[in-house]
Amino acid sequence: MSFASLGLIDPLLRNLQDLNYQTPTPVQAKAIPAVLSGKDVMGAAQTGTGKTAGFALPLLQRLTQHGPAVSSNRARVLVLVPTRELAEQVLQSFMAYGKGLDLRFLAAYGGVSINPQMMKLRKGVDVLVATPGRLLDLNRQNAVQFDQVQTLVLDEADRMLDLGFARELDAVFAALPAQRQTLLFSATFTDDIRAIAATILRGPVNISVSPPNATASNIKQWVVPVDKRNKPELFMHLVAENNWEHALVFVKTRNGVDYLAAMLDEAGYAVDTIHGDKPQPARLRALERFKTGEVNMLVATDVAARGLDIDDLPLVINVDLPIVAQDYVHRIGRTGRAGASGVAVSLVCADEAPQLAAIEALIRQTLPREEEPGFEAEHRVPQTSATGQIIKKPKKPKKPKAPQAVPGAVQVLNNKPRPQGGENKRKPAAQRAVAAGEGTSPSSGNPFSVRKPRSKPASKPVGGRSKRGP
Ligand code: AMP
Repeated sequence: MSFASLGLIDPLLRNLQDLNYQTPTPVQAKAIPAVLSGKDVMGAAQTGTGKTAGFALPLLQRLTQHGPAVSSNRARVLVLVPTRELAEQVLQSFMAYGKGLDLRFLAAYGGVSINPQMMKLRKGVDVLVATPGRLLDLNRQNAVQFDQVQTLVLDEADRMLDLGFARELDAVFAALPAQRQTLLFSATFTDDIRAIAATILRGPVNISVSPPNATASNIKQWVVPVDKRNKPELFMHLVAENNWEHALVFVKTRNGVDYLAAMLDEAGYAVDTIHGDKPQPARLRALERFKTGEVNMLVATDVAARGLDIDDLPLVINVDLPIVAQDYVHRIGRTGRAGASGVAVSLVCADEAPQLAAIEALIRQTLPREEEPGFEAEHRVPQTSATGQIIKKPKKPKKPKAPQAVPGAVQVLNNKPRPQGGENKRKPAAQRAVAAGEGTSPSSGNPFSVRKPRSKPASKPVGGRSKRGP
């Protein structure tokens, strides 16, 4: 199948040729004709499937073929996205696919001055890509009105809900013309998303190019169980051991990001970071440097997780698992794109077992575990199942009983608790390991250095060895 056979016009076909897009991806093959015909679309498409071109190409065509010209402070196509980075990226896609067309584009998002965005809106724009909060700000200040909006696109709708944009979305829906085309894309489909779809879509064409909630099969994924405090050393060890030279690294906290970035930097890697506390220009610069290969390692918190379009990324390392299971799918969606094979490795500690179980339930598979010699977890990561269950939850440590001295009786020592416990017995090693388990400790700024060294290491945890990086 060719792009021409989908009914795209020459200027778009030329741009696709320049970009070296030979054949439409499955989501494009389905979405392009549907969007061209003006229908609503509900798309369950994984990141990396080419969904941006799936909606951008036909919308560009409709914009050129159907007037009227846009008035001042108006937009004709409105694309809502969850993050600033994705806004920039979708804008870039529209500009690349629509090169040479007489259309105006703008990305509007928070964290940067609103004035330039207001200025650009004065003339009106054909495509406005926006995050929900900034869009409503602009609307309140009359910088943009919605009466000319002919198409609404919700990109990564599940992520928008995760980020708490439900109210903003409702406000936008209420302000838009009822007569319009609506396209809703989401990598994962929860009940909330279905509820939104039911209220805003009319007779949508359903597009599902892969089982919803599944991760791409061309990505090799595995988990390395490890104690939380040993994550930085294990990370550096794996990177060095495997000669991993180009990776996107996810960490839970900003402190964790800075900590790992400093380690990488010290070890001589070219590294940059993305997190929410960085000013927007610095975040975009970091992404750009990573994309162009100026830096090989990009360490990021979740803000960078979704939708970032990074080609040919062979490796994603989750130093921490995401809190929201869907984010795992989005994170590792950075790799294995457009048919390339990728690798996604996650360092998992005992207190992340619930997250691991949730992820495995979502992707409907149990991730293989591979312990790294020298880094075996003292705090066992409980077994999980693809149904989302933690199979063997570590039991709460029980106090061993003080044997009651019964004159004349032979004292039998076993593991069974007895009615009255003594307090001065050593706990069995496994129980002591669990007693110091990570599940109970609160996380703090730096996820890797919170644990106070225990007075004594457990003598024999499961597969226990001294935990030192090489
Ligand atoms: P997306 O899922 O929209 O983020 O796109 C994923 C990546 O695939 C982007 O880097 C696109 O440039 C690329 N891409 C999209 N469609 C095609 C295509 N038909 N042929 C080759 N690459 C494509």
